[in-house]
Amino acid sequence: MKKDALKYERLREVMIKKQIESRGIKDPKVLAAMGKVPRHLFVNEALADQAYGDFPLPIGEQQTISQPYIVAEMTQSLQLTEEDRVLEIGTGSGYQAAILSEIVFRVYTVERIRSLYVKTRQLFDKLRYFNIVTRYSDGTTGWSDQSPFDAIIVTAGATEEIPAPLISQLAVGGRMVIPAGNQFSQDLIKLYKDEKGIHQTSLGGCRFVKLVGEHGWKDIRGT
Ligand code: SAH
Repeated sequence: MKKDALKYERLREVMIKKQIESRGIKDPKVLAAMGKVPRHLFVNEALADQAYGDFPLPIGEQQTISQPYIVAEMTQSLQLTEEDRVLEIGTGSGYQAAILSEIVFRVYTVERIRSLYVKTRQLFDKLRYFNIVTRYSDGTTGWSDQSPFDAIIVTAGATEEIPAPLISQLAVGGRMVIPAGNQFSQDLIKLYKDEKGIHQTSLGGCRFVKLVGEHGWKDIRGT
């Protein structure tokens, strides 16, 4: 409905001002994407009015859509350009992939829970996000056929060991952001790869659901 679209557009403006810009996010591409993507369509209808709040929300299968600020911070940290090809591990609701798709050339996104993969694939088609390629598999092994990637974003918490296949599938000059740590708290790690090797910095503490897979947590429970 038109009236609803306007209502949600206003909520997005408030979200950007109060949660994103006020905390130091400046990249105009990130701000424009956050202003455009209809976050309320990436959550269950019953939660639509809460979609622009300053918190994560459940998306089923014990998984969550990240808080808007975290999405903005991770996206900005990747220093994206419109030619970039980006790999996302953890499709979930599809919101982060949609934000990326507004900024870059192509997004490759991997999800390990089949029901989320199917539902989100359908949503991308419905909302006409044609530059998002989806895959149902364990993302800790990356997507070697399509590598190297200009940027990699992992939206589930790795163990202290960052999955080696992801590091090797990053292009020289490529950036990666990944939460890594223990079950209860993680550091948001930013990696940069150049001819000399890998350079790592921490962007601060965070808390994500587990990255489960061959190069991640071994138990099948997602929490
Ligand atoms: N980016 C998502 C966040 C979803 S939560 C969004 O914007 O909504 C993290 C997601 O990572 C969950 O859907 C979970 O199933 C998925 N995940 C966890 N381990 C994974 C793995 N090894 N490969 C692919 N997806 C994984």
